[in-house]
Amino acid sequence: MDKLNVNALFLGPKSENQDFFKEMLNFMMNDFIDWRKDFHPQDKPIITDSDKDREDYKSTLLKTRHTLVDLAGKLQTCSMPWFSPRYLGHMNTDTLMAANLGYMLTLLYNPNNCAYEGSPVTTELEIELGKQLAGLLGYDPKRSWGHITSGGTIANYEGLWVARNLKSIPHAIKKVLPELVGEISDWQLSNLTSVRVLDLLDEVKVAGKFEDILRLSARGTGVLDKNPGKLLVPQSKHYSWVKAMDILGIGTENLINIKVKDNYRMDIEDLKNTIEKLTVQKIPILAVVGVVGSTEEGAIDEIHEIVRIRREFEEKGISFYLHIDAAYGGYARAMVLDENNKFLEYDDLISTLKEQRIIAEDTDWPSPEVHKAFKFMGEADSITIDPHKMGYVPYATGAIVMKDKRILDLISYFAAYVFDKSENNPLLLGSYIMEGSKAGATVAATWCAHKIIPLNFTGYGRIIGCGITGAQRFYRTILKAGSIIIAGRKFQIKPLTLPDFNMVDFAFNEIGNKDLTAMNELNQKIYELCSYKSGPVYLNDFITSKTALSEEEYGNTPGKFVMDFGIPWEEWEKVKSVYVMRSSIITPFLVNDSSPDGFMNNFLKTMKEKITKIIS
Ligand SMILES: *Cc1c(COP(=O)(O)O)cnc(C)c1O
Repeated sequence: MDKLNVNALFLGPKSENQDFFKEMLNFMMNDFIDWRKDFHPQDKPIITDSDKDREDYKSTLLKTRHTLVDLAGKLQTCSMPWFSPRYLGHMNTDTLMAANLGYMLTLLYNPNNCAYEGSPVTTELEIELGKQLAGLLGYDPKRSWGHITSGGTIANYEGLWVARNLKSIPHAIKKVLPELVGEISDWQLSNLTSVRVLDLLDEVKVAGKFEDILRLSARGTGVLDKNPGKLLVPQSKHYSWVKAMDILGIGTENLINIKVKDNYRMDIEDLKNTIEKLTVQKIPILAVVGVVGSTEEGAIDEIHEIVRIRREFEEKGISFYLHIDAAYGGYARAMVLDENNKFLEYDDLISTLKEQRIIAEDTDWPSPEVHKAFKFMGEADSITIDPHKMGYVPYATGAIVMKDKRILDLISYFAAYVFDKSENNPLLLGSYIMEGSKAGATVAATWCAHKIIPLNFTGYGRIIGCGITGAQRFYRTILKAGSIIIAGRKFQIKPLTLPDFNMVDFAFNEIGNKDLTAMNELNQKIYELCSYKSGPVYLNDFITSKTALSEEEYGNTPGKFVMDFGIPWEEWEKVKSVYVMRSSIITPFLVNDSSPDGFMNNFLKTMKEKITKIIS
């Protein structure tokens, strides 16, 4: 089979594929219009020619026309040019033609995936997508359960929702069916493995006491009755975890931040020490969250180490739920799966990625730790993944996948297990998920994307590989530049850390400056010249995003980056925050445009112009 051509997947930065795009739009609109007419063709039109002759009819159409022209103008003036390689900021780039077209087509039919009867087509597609994503993430598609959410935030809420309910089940069993758990302490009840709890629930179902147990679980009693324990997340966490603790009534004070190392991955030693400390105090751990692709640094936590630690503690009778927040990095697991979706061992992988030109010759990726992290993802109880990030589909499309589909019963409002025998169920999605009415269009968009682009290195690997190669080159451009001279003054530029994925953070400082506030001000001014402030957006020649790495969130880790600029430690202790530019390089076009005018070649020149403007 021919290999996938990335240039044929997107409309293109200059609408290079406009002919095809318009042809498909025309086909879709004509097809949809005919579909309406073909529904009982004998029915007469209700809007007649004489209706259309009326003045108020014409003026109403005119209002629609004006409104659309008005909206188009607003959007053109002030929308972010995500399709351009000059946009290197948030996790945005061009979205796939297939996904955009599939979305627009489905939008016209307006399916609602809350219930099968409102979405016979797209509900089935959603169930199929759940299985595809399960396979991508290392789960057995037959035993797992996954569905589309409106984003990673909701997926994280749902992960914690499941964990909270699961953690409370053993305590409820002890009240209703004590013989099932025997002589066992509260502490032990809080430390049963997820599989053990689900096995117990199977016995509860046989005993016909499932509803009674649910009533006495966190679902019925809330968390007041029994503290579900602590949530352990790395300092690099997405802030949705804080919100989740609030919303689910567990409380933000029960969230513990685990330190990150200099490379912004979770510090496994700190994780271990924290678990030990909590164990001594007999405080249960509700869940540990590992991050695959941190929002601010693209760091990939060492999932294999978290899994190893869980096994070690389980031997000592201590267990916790494990969720992976791979909203950002989940699709990158496609990079390590071959054309038969088989996981590739390290040496094979590295040579194959280069032979197949998925990763460029000059780029080394992934590191052995990132490869191992991908390998062990399938051990987690649930995983968040965002098709609207590295899946290149439009908003609002996130997803959650759970390893063991029996877990669904803990959040279901429609006894799923009764229907478990049938492969087609559950189809009443609204009863099994956090949301209610929801678009079938996002599902269709993702399904179209997956239909064309395999979830392995022959498909998504080819697109994501361009971004990773681009990110590494961008990183090296910054590293090599070292310093630039502007009007006789010398400015240093440094990347924060070698990226695990496709995010490059960087900052400037004037050589000799030892004042962190002044350094932060310089970077803030650069950012202001490299971001949208007010229209028209055509005036921007480079757009990025920014973040402040503060002591409050990251402890002293960012302080070392500050010291690398020759700024004394006392300055870090005083200011406690460093301002950095943040470029997510998702676009396949940065690396594919190697022309002299290409943005990669002109990045430093652009930066020089910005700083010149600031200091003159
Ligand atoms: C983006 C992101 C989220 C939130 O996802 P949304 O789709 O924006 O709701 C959660 N976690 C991580 C790590 C993310 O990068």
